[in-house]
Amino acid sequence: DNTIVIQAPAVASKRSTREWQQADAAHFLHPFTDFGALAKKGSRIITKAEGIYLWDSEGKKILDAMSGLWCVNVGYGQNSLVEAATRQMKELPFYNAFFQTATPPAIELAELLAEVTPPNFQHVFFAGSGSEGNDTVVRMVRRYWDILGQPERKVIISRKNGYHGSTMAGASLGGMSYMHAQGGLPIPDITHIDQPYWHEHGHGMDKAEFGKVAASWLEKRILEVGADKVAAFIGEPVQGAGGVIVPPATYWPEIQRICDKYGVLIVSDEVICGFGRTGNWFGCETQGFKPDLMTFAKGVTSGYIPLGGVMVGDRMAKVLIEQGGDFNHGYTYSGHPVASAVAVANIKLIQQLKLVEHVRDDVGPYLAQQFASLKDHPLVGDTETCGLMGAILLVKDKAKNTAFPAEIDIGMVCRGHCFGNGLIMRAVGDRMIIAPPLVMNRAQMDEMMSLIRRCLDLTL
Ligand code: PLP
Repeated sequence: DNTIVIQAPAVASKRSTREWQQADAAHFLHPFTDFGALAKKGSRIITKAEGIYLWDSEGKKILDAMSGLWCVNVGYGQNSLVEAATRQMKELPFYNAFFQTATPPAIELAELLAEVTPPNFQHVFFAGSGSEGNDTVVRMVRRYWDILGQPERKVIISRKNGYHGSTMAGASLGGMSYMHAQGGLPIPDITHIDQPYWHEHGHGMDKAEFGKVAASWLEKRILEVGADKVAAFIGEPVQGAGGVIVPPATYWPEIQRICDKYGVLIVSDEVICGFGRTGNWFGCETQGFKPDLMTFAKGVTSGYIPLGGVMVGDRMAKVLIEQGGDFNHGYTYSGHPVASAVAVANIKLIQQLKLVEHVRDDVGPYLAQQFASLKDHPLVGDTETCGLMGAILLVKDKAKNTAFPAEIDIGMVCRGHCFGNGLIMRAVGDRMIIAPPLVMNRAQMDEMMSLIRRCLDLTL
């Protein structure tokens, strides 16, 4: 027997916080980070997690009100996901789906996704992340129009302050000006309209009226570009990274009407909103529209392992399958068996724990009520929630509704207090945002709210 038995390495010996920070600063370039500044300051080293809590290398407990990066929907420490990964790694750690092969976990996941998505979605294209999913979107919508003999339909309309990832196509679809400022973005044939943010654009209008006005900017842009050149419109049902911007209820139905009128495809970027976050399986169901494509990632595996992809609606699937021929696109990890096995376990757990119903009927309405009660705080100009996403708008003078001057980064001040007080919230300009794990119960939400109040008091 010439089998080589390789022993797993012993668990890395514990290092001190300072030692971790030094090694981190010496070698690790962090995403969306000023490398030099962080190297001087030192990272916070997160070492373990359970439920909705994290612990750092100093042993400090932290309530994670951001689910990592909007992804740990089922909370930390779920054994069924760990076991699914272990089992699949032992049985078949990798095989691809390129050359007319498939693996059982990827097939099972495709089937399960067809079950939990709206009825017109029966097909999926797998990727490794949300960004790769959105790269797939760009190629797939253009391919679709090519097949239909309308290759001039290339332009994709998206929104300022939307976030669709960090690859060339993802960052181009996104409307983050600080990203466009680096690396020659956006790529051609992508154009951005203003976001449906009432505090920025809606003054003097009631919200229902503003929703229709904000949607009309899409029609205006379609006409400027020429309807026969517009391939698709993409948006997050609720903008996440842009600051949890919840659109008025009139916005998406009006977007749908306009896209139907001009034959423009709708892409719902469900990377954050998918898998229960908004109180339905998908954000488009909460916001009342029917997309042709849906990008997903994050919550599909609750972040336990990377996986993303695109759900393809029947209208497009029929054309791609029956008339398309080869689609020259894909990733080594499209349909990765271990990631797929974890996703299957994760979706089954969401079903078993009835997390979608838990958000819709219990903790979602409770969060809305708790956030509304923050409006009595002198710093809080407004609050908004949708399911288990929420935003708190910080204002300088509540009576006059004035914002903080640009030189005071009030969000970062508040975030600093959160960091010091065992709470992870995110700051986006003057908005403090949360997206806690969907397993959070009311008692834990009370604990989170008292931490939030304490941090707001410290920010005053
Ligand atoms: N789309 C949305 C709405 C996102 O929030 C994100 C990430 O935050 C992405 C796409 C990109 O996903 P990833 O970071 O997995 O590439």
